[in-house]
Amino acid sequence: MLSVILPSYNEEKMIPIAAETVTGILDEAGIDHELLFVDDGSRDKTWDQIEKAAETNPHVVGLHFSRNFGKEAAMFAGLEQARGDCCVVIDCDLQHPPEKIVEMYRLWEDGFEVVEGIKVDRGTESGMHRLAAKGFYGLISKATGLNMADSSDFKLLDRKVVDALNQMPERNVFFRALSFWVGFKRTTVRYRVRQRTAGESKWSTRSLIKYAVTNIGSFSSAPLHIITVLGILMLITSLVFGVVALVQKIAGTAIGGFTTVILLLLFTGSLIMISLGIIGYYIARIYEELKGRPRYIISRTCGREDEA
Ligand code: UDP
Ligand code: MG
Repeated sequence: MLSVILPSYNEEKMIPIAAETVTGILDEAGIDHELLFVDDGSRDKTWDQIEKAAETNPHVVGLHFSRNFGKEAAMFAGLEQARGDCCVVIDCDLQHPPEKIVEMYRLWEDGFEVVEGIKVDRGTESGMHRLAAKGFYGLISKATGLNMADSSDFKLLDRKVVDALNQMPERNVFFRALSFWVGFKRTTVRYRVRQRTAGESKWSTRSLIKYAVTNIGSFSSAPLHIITVLGILMLITSLVFGVVALVQKIAGTAIGGFTTVILLLLFTGSLIMISLGIIGYYIARIYEELKGRPRYIISRTCGREDEA
């Protein structure tokens, strides 16, 4: 069986369309499946729509979070609850073309354990957004040593991969990077990002920046290394200045020097502040992980008889 995981947040208009489209495509291809809608604490009628879909469509299973925990948490909840031999994660706004699931499934049957969806283009994203996305992926690819350009959350994972991911103890998870990190036999499928047909994008610039920072932090310690590099640069600068100051002193031309002092002071001061900030950030992350809170809380389910 194939489990299709659809994280959904305020997608009341898309639930019935998504359920119908995906089931239609998979039935036609003769693939046994379940549709796991993970309602990420929506504030609109998303949950009602999922319950309604579960009544008419026996493939639909719904999970409802007690509040909004974010897309990563929703995807991991889906992976933990999935019962299929392989899982596909797909946006429920259908911007990831659902026909590609069949192509992914066939590749899985051919023995691939991870099938990545790779964006051919980024749809109708604005120039700014595109640039930011490029910068983010450039940075994280460098920082983690994994090439993730054009990757997305649209992926098929074999049961073995899903089990490996479910065993990760960390609370702050970055699905895209973790599914790279685990390895396994992989291949790619290229797709074009579609227009959203209903509802609107849930990402503001602020939430995207937060996403970028959290995920870089959860996946690499590069920011900490930056401090070391800055420190070395600082040391070289002060050595040069030190030599210059000494030479001036010996030559007897050591007048003023006030500018140099104040500049160095400001420079050192700001470097120390930055370093403390970065270290503080990592300590905060350690604290968060230490608390060991669950990634999400499920408050309601539907579509599975054996569950209360
Ligand atoms: N989503 C979610 N929780 C959130 C934000 C988004 O589960 O806090 C889901 C959303 O319902 C959609 C998918 O993540 O299925 C992608 O979101 P969206 O379409 O807003 O992102 P975009 O396509 O604009 O990058
Ligand atoms: Mg979308």
